[in-house]
Amino acid sequence: MNGDNCDNGEYKVDFDKPIHTPTRKLKVICIGAGASGLLIAYKLQRHFDDFELNVYEKNKDVSGTWYENRYPGCACDVPSHCYTWSFEPKTDWSSTYASAKEIHQYFAGFAKKYQLGRYIKLEHEVIGATWDEAAAQWHVKIRQGTTEILVEDSCHVLLNAGGILNAWKWPAIPGLENYKGTLVHSAAWPEDLDLTGKVVGLIGNGSSGVQILPAIQAEVKELTTFIREPTWIAPPLGEAYQVFTDADKASFAADPEKHLVLRRGIESGINSAFAMFTLADGRQKEIRTAFEDRMRQQLSDPRTAHFQNALIPTWSVGCRRLSPGIDYLKSLSAPNVSVVFGNITHVTSAGCVMSSGEEYPTDVLICATGFDTSLRPRFPVIGRAGVDLREKWKDEPRAYLGFAAAGFPNYLMTLGPNCPIGNGAVLAGIEAQVEYFVKLLSKFQKEMLTTFDVREEAVDDFVEHKDEFMKNTVWTEDCRSWYKGDNIHGKVTALWPGSSLHYIEAVREVRYEDWALTREKRNRFQFLGNGHSTAEKRTGEMAYYIRNSDDSWIDPVLKAKL
Ligand code: NAP
Repeated sequence: MNGDNCDNGEYKVDFDKPIHTPTRKLKVICIGAGASGLLIAYKLQRHFDDFELNVYEKNKDVSGTWYENRYPGCACDVPSHCYTWSFEPKTDWSSTYASAKEIHQYFAGFAKKYQLGRYIKLEHEVIGATWDEAAAQWHVKIRQGTTEILVEDSCHVLLNAGGILNAWKWPAIPGLENYKGTLVHSAAWPEDLDLTGKVVGLIGNGSSGVQILPAIQAEVKELTTFIREPTWIAPPLGEAYQVFTDADKASFAADPEKHLVLRRGIESGINSAFAMFTLADGRQKEIRTAFEDRMRQQLSDPRTAHFQNALIPTWSVGCRRLSPGIDYLKSLSAPNVSVVFGNITHVTSAGCVMSSGEEYPTDVLICATGFDTSLRPRFPVIGRAGVDLREKWKDEPRAYLGFAAAGFPNYLMTLGPNCPIGNGAVLAGIEAQVEYFVKLLSKFQKEMLTTFDVREEAVDDFVEHKDEFMKNTVWTEDCRSWYKGDNIHGKVTALWPGSSLHYIEAVREVRYEDWALTREKRNRFQFLGNGHSTAEKRTGEMAYYIRNSDDSWIDPVLKAKL
């Protein structure tokens, strides 16, 4: 047997090391310190002790989307008590739907509590990554702040936690560049923008647009909202809006078990929503009627009643992401709000021109028009044989279980294509991904692997299953949605073929048969070491597994039978 623990070709047991002692420091680079990047740092810190981690974050602060999105009204649209890590509750949320600022504080506080800042380099933007086959490493290029200074770094494993709704883009409307007023994108809101007394145009009625409109309506002089397509305005996704009093917060903090019951109740509601997206469920008719009645009732004002039909979709509830617009429909009937339906043909120096030829001059034009949702990396990611992932995914992003791509060894993504981003609880899905990464990286380090690369046929089988599954969902109906790369008839590339709960079960175990693994040329059992356990050697605990009940993980169905 060859290897560096050999003497004259003879294999030798390493009698200094207990089982699973790493023989090599694990070097990881993580792109982004948003929620996912912070979770990665937390979990690596928790599960590894011989590792080096550099998290490169382009922004001045952590928390990603919740740092970047500062538009008026920006808030969580699922109940805050479930917008936390499963293991890190927060009892002092100010209201049922916390503001972006408060969510930013939660994630920044999480980073501080676990001292994750030691891994994070702020204002460092990754601009390229190249796989080096000979060294079995990624070489990563990073730009410092807004300078031209480039830094290079290398790692065994590259984790892309760059976010899915992160690369905002201007709408493709001819003439936008000629606009002479103040042009704003919802995801790049200028801190000092004062809309008082201004004539404002708002393009888009997605989740951002429906939060912005009621938040600015009262302060602007006039507001014209340009709506291209109808959308389902949902009731709050969970609880009715409520500000929590100090007494509420104190009671959440005083009784963690009661708080847990509350959190589980809300999470159950969110996770139950998935069923309505499937055609087999049969509840769509009932849900549609309830949604439609609610919208018609909220649009019953004479100023808005005539466009009920233009605003209520023909496609099913959930075809595109539900927008729970608290006060949105009510705001449309405000005397200073005008709603203009149809396509904007072009933008002039003064404002938007519709296909009717009518021009709408504005002082400020707000584009709540969404993000680049091609799911391709924003920078070159050059894998095996010099293939750029952006090129490979030019026509269709084809990933494995929402986190890996064939031909890109030692590269994993959080919230990659077909992950559970709209299938139920989102943060729980990210946790499931990162738990998977931990298992894979643990084996990688302890068993001296050099590469893990998902097999192309595993990707093909997954994509085939996913595409067949999607035919039985409302997502493939004829709505335009970022779930389908902003197309009407495209493949569903953003969502997981199942519920978030389904995802948690699907990725609980690593299917090593789907991965091509290579290892250092050593005896594969070298990790068994000197016959001692790590626990006895390092903590002195000789009976840690003795306990009063069997608290090992068990399938909930089997648990219920006990
Ligand atoms: P979006 O859902 O992609 O909506 C973009 C809007 O802009 C749509 O109404 C679209 O019209 C319109 N639009 C785009 N190009 C246009 C053009 N050329 N002319 C006219 N209209 C145009 O983007 P978003 O509202 O920023 O939301 C994106 C996602 O971010 C959400 O689905 C959600 O997942 C997330 N988000 C979450 C929250 C939260 O509270 N948790 C808040 C905001 C956003 P069409 O409908 O005709 O395509």
